[in-house]
Amino acid sequence: MKQTSQHHQLIIIGAGGSGLTAAVTARDLGIDAAIIESNDRIGKKVLTTGNGRCNITNESTATGTDEAVALARKYHSNQGAFPLPVLQQFGVRQAIDFFATLGLPLISLEDGRMYPMSLQAAAVLEIFKLALEDRNVPVYFQTKVLDVTYSPNHPRFTLQCQTENEEQVVYTSEYLFLCTGGLTAPKTGTDGSGYVLAERLGHTRIYPVPGIVQLKLDYPYLKELSGIKFEGMGRILVRDEVIRSEYGEILFTDYGISGPPILQLSRKAAYQLAKEEEVILAVDLMSGRTEEELVDFLETHWGIFGHRTVADSLAGILNKKLIPVLLKEAGIDEQLHLLCQDLTWKMKKEFYRLLKRWEFKVTDTNGFTHAQTTAGGIDTEELTTGTLESKLVPGLYLAGEVMDVDGDCGGYNLQWAWSSGHVAARALAKHLSGG
Ligand SMILES: Cc1cc2nc3c(=O)[nH]c(=O)nc-3n(C[C@H](O)[C@H](O)[C@H](O)COP(=O)(O)OP(=O)(O)OC[C@H]3O[C@@H](n4cnc5c(N)ncnc54)[C@H](O)[C@@H]3O)c2cc1C
Repeated sequence: MKQTSQHHQLIIIGAGGSGLTAAVTARDLGIDAAIIESNDRIGKKVLTTGNGRCNITNESTATGTDEAVALARKYHSNQGAFPLPVLQQFGVRQAIDFFATLGLPLISLEDGRMYPMSLQAAAVLEIFKLALEDRNVPVYFQTKVLDVTYSPNHPRFTLQCQTENEEQVVYTSEYLFLCTGGLTAPKTGTDGSGYVLAERLGHTRIYPVPGIVQLKLDYPYLKELSGIKFEGMGRILVRDEVIRSEYGEILFTDYGISGPPILQLSRKAAYQLAKEEEVILAVDLMSGRTEEELVDFLETHWGIFGHRTVADSLAGILNKKLIPVLLKEAGIDEQLHLLCQDLTWKMKKEFYRLLKRWEFKVTDTNGFTHAQTTAGGIDTEELTTGTLESKLVPGLYLAGEVMDVDGDCGGYNLQWAWSSGHVAARALAKHLSGG
């Protein structure tokens, strides 16, 4: 086993979105920065983002007088106010400018979501690769940081690493950035080892759960429902109280439920499940109408078409595959022969209730392998707001998903990676320049 050693002023662990932005920014500010990455290439996760197109950011909050405040509302953390000072320094406009200066113009598509003009995530990595080469930033690939120690003397940080060939390598630095991501998509290199390194340095972790992920349901007719899409409202209920609602296109799958509103709701569900609470997902199939409007509408409809079967009468109103399941669930027409004129008030009442509040027991999320982000992570109480430096270890900074900050679906997690990477690098440069 060969043992080698290298020293840099700043070592950044992780060549994901946050580490890459930090490296480019730090180098531009005159810092001797190097990256250590366990994969054989940069940004493996970025490649998988936005269905291969990379939803870099979202400009829908970049209007009005206080853009950063609007943007900050898209983030979640145990310390709700933590992301704002970071986003005030580097928000959506700064991200657009940053990529423009690197040679990557962005375009805006649906709901303000922004992508590289070529609509290829690979282009983002190509641009970062060129930026690192232009600036002579060394990247030590296939090198995993196994352990870290801090000393008040120089060098302050000593990293024990192992290469793909099982060589032991020691890296030392005066400053250290942990940009190691969370636990999602472990195939991209994020196995949670960043948490262990932070803990070795005295930090604590807020229990991480999968965020932006599909939900598993306990429901007997999932096979029949699988593949059905509809526009509706999803609500997460715990102890009969709604804790978050989201509207949009919902999709049933053979294991449960997916679609943008479900992905948005998932972090709340995951936290409650981790607390062993019973979690209910209630779906409103008629969110465009109040219950009274729905009753009026169907009473009139059935008044006109009383001679038709209930199943036939609903053909133009609901997805055809939904009808037999809903009628079965409401217990009103197992055989699909019942005529509308023969519906009792009790049956109708149950059907109206179901259309407005169809409840499913959530048993689990689809896990970190399928999640897009990690909710939870290193406690932000232990970081200085606005610089991202550790309050416990001088010279240690955190950026990206490793800390307890996660964003909504729509480009906000990558925006956090760019913002936090940039802000940490600027804060270090400011510190080095004496103010
Ligand atoms: C399928 C999918 C799609 C997504 N789509 C979008 C999207 O379109 N828009 C959006 O905003 N967000 C999206 N996200 C979320 C977004 O990609 C992440 O939040 C963001 O990339 C996190 O960046 P990061 O720099 O914090 O960490 P990561 O990108 O996860 O990078 C961390 C890096 O650290 C390395 N590393 C970890 N531990 C060690 C160690 N001990 N030693 C050496 N190296 C180490 C890893 O190999 C990895 O390369 C998506 C996520 C997934 C999984």
